[in-house]
Amino acid sequence: MIMLNGYAGKNLKINVSSGECRVENTAPELAEKYLGGRGFVARLLYDGLEPGTDPLGEKNMVVVATGPLSGHLLPGSGKTHFGSLSPATGGYGDSNLGGHFGPALKYAGYDYMVIEGAAPKLSAIVIDNDQIRIVEYEELQGKGAIEAEKELKARLGEDYQIITIGPAGENKVVFSCISHDFGRQAGRCGIAAVMGSKNIKAVAVRGTKSIPVYNPAGAQKKGEEMYRVCFSKPGFKTWTPYGTASLTDWANEVGVFPTRNFQSSYAEFHKQINGQAIRDRLLVTEKGCFCCPTPCGKYGYAKTSVGNAYVEGPEYESIATLGGSCCLETIEEVAYANYVCDQLGLDTISAGVVASFALECFEKGVISANDVGKGISFGSLEDVVYLFEKIASRDGIGAVLAEGVRHAAGVFGQHSDHYAIQVKGLEWSGYECRNAPGMMLSYMTADVGAHHNRSWALGFDISQSDADVSALISAGTSGELPLSSPEGKVDHVISMQHSRPLFDALGICRLQTMEIGFETAHYEDVYELITGRKLSWPEMLEISERIWHLTRQFNAKHIDGFGRSADFPPRRLMEDPVTTGPNKGRFLKREILDKLLSEYYEKRGWDQNGIPTAETLERFGLEKV
Ligand code: SF4
Repeated sequence: MIMLNGYAGKNLKINVSSGECRVENTAPELAEKYLGGRGFVARLLYDGLEPGTDPLGEKNMVVVATGPLSGHLLPGSGKTHFGSLSPATGGYGDSNLGGHFGPALKYAGYDYMVIEGAAPKLSAIVIDNDQIRIVEYEELQGKGAIEAEKELKARLGEDYQIITIGPAGENKVVFSCISHDFGRQAGRCGIAAVMGSKNIKAVAVRGTKSIPVYNPAGAQKKGEEMYRVCFSKPGFKTWTPYGTASLTDWANEVGVFPTRNFQSSYAEFHKQINGQAIRDRLLVTEKGCFCCPTPCGKYGYAKTSVGNAYVEGPEYESIATLGGSCCLETIEEVAYANYVCDQLGLDTISAGVVASFALECFEKGVISANDVGKGISFGSLEDVVYLFEKIASRDGIGAVLAEGVRHAAGVFGQHSDHYAIQVKGLEWSGYECRNAPGMMLSYMTADVGAHHNRSWALGFDISQSDADVSALISAGTSGELPLSSPEGKVDHVISMQHSRPLFDALGICRLQTMEIGFETAHYEDVYELITGRKLSWPEMLEISERIWHLTRQFNAKHIDGFGRSADFPPRRLMEDPVTTGPNKGRFLKREILDKLLSEYYEKRGWDQNGIPTAETLERFGLEKV
């Protein structure tokens, strides 16, 4: 085996139909050109899947990948990346979670694993260093994702790190999520449904090996320094106590908080569902991922009229889609809806948007009480939970909603596609963008569909709309904000689409950098000490750009007629004015978005249908794709 410092050096391919397990060396060229994590996922899926592959068929793959920094003693090094041909979009799908699974996989000796085929009965893959078993666990059928993790821990041992799916994944709901560590999820793109289609309820890993490091003493010293730097940042004290929920008040004051299925971008009740409400009314303890100095997880207890539960979160996205879009007005209700999603194994982002779409369809008479099984309304926790249960079991209207809002709008008709809030089939995450052209473009061009994690251009949008917006926020004003200009946004979006997903290729959390201002130069230093390879941040960004072109090409390969038309938001965001709040009356006309797309494609080196040109692919060593 060639020594690949920083990496475990091997990978695992499991065909769960035949039970065959193959262990191979991780190719140094793969590490060099794609780093790891998201880079490995993109390249392996591109090479491994033929056009016409059924996302829920045996030939689809689930790739689980760590990065070169995963599992080392560094801040936030517990990230694991998952990917498949997405059943939600029919294109490139990936998602990411924290916790402890990735480090355990690496300590067991594997940089990544690929799951193919379909097991004859519901099973778990159990990896104990070199021992790999596929174990039938039919008795786990229908168990909640968190419940199943607890049960497997009891059977296998606390030292196993376990990912599970809930009933929604078993029933192949296209927005089902992978769960781990009793509340961390790889939520997006329906990769749990792909696991469900393979009859894989869980993967459990125990690893006790070490990872080769180029300069162990230097890496340890640098790691210690990185922790000290994190602790010294002002954001450490202000951001960590609230985590991502700290965004709730800000998102309302600048009018980007989706409310009533994105009819508005402001919720009057936002102080009832913000980070402070979590601390005051739910919090039991802080909870963080492997090696994290800034634990953003808030483990709490919620009491509601529908039920009571211990739950991790809610984090900002769940607050926005369950609290904002479904109008659940107390933090207890948001947290309980979050818990129901976690047990059923539903992505809280898509589930919230799907439920709010159904609520609006009911309100507008597109669907009836007869269709739904009862009358439903915005703001009712009971109705939201009812919809989630229907979806997870594909019962009645749940069978239609389980395919996502794009599909459901096609079935319901009556112009409901106008307010099916998605791009490429993936439901929109927690930012309303009718006065945020940069963020709108970010959602439009994200390879996985409408997801904020590729580029979060909102801060730039807002600072461009009002240089002194912070004064407005601190004054608590919800008066009208100036119009944000589309000028100058494309370069910013492109740059963010390289920097944010780079963390997912390195296998490390981006929040220390994005939220508390941790400097990226530290990653250059520690990457060299761990791997022995010198790579500047701009050189790493170039690798991230390579991955961006590859995933665009992946979509062109797998989605019939893929091109420019796939990059537009739903008509509501281009035609309907925001109904209330600081951005009342605003919308972004299709002509503006069309112009932004043209500039974006040109700057990307893609043709005007949004397909990478041969020259661009060649420039990034992708001529073979
Ligand atoms: S900041 Fe949050 S998501 Fe990132 S490693 Fe820490 S606990 Fe995990």
